[in-house]
Amino acid sequence: MDEPVTLSELVWAANRTMDMHWTRSESPWQPGGCRQCTEDGCPQLDWARRVLTDVRAQLLG
Ligand SMILES: [Zn+2]
Repeated sequence: MDEPVTLSELVWAANRTMDMHWTRSESPWQPGGCRQCTEDGCPQLDWARRVLTDVRAQLLG
């Protein structure tokens, strides 16, 4: 199976996406940080969350 990006690149991109969506409001990481954001949510933010959750699960075994 070909993996186009390394794990560290994936994590870097995901963290960068999370940073873009950081807000100083009471509930951080809300939609509104990028061009794909809508009032209902953001596919980019969902992707980054999923990646980071998966990686954490892998690291914790
Ligand atoms: Zn967004």
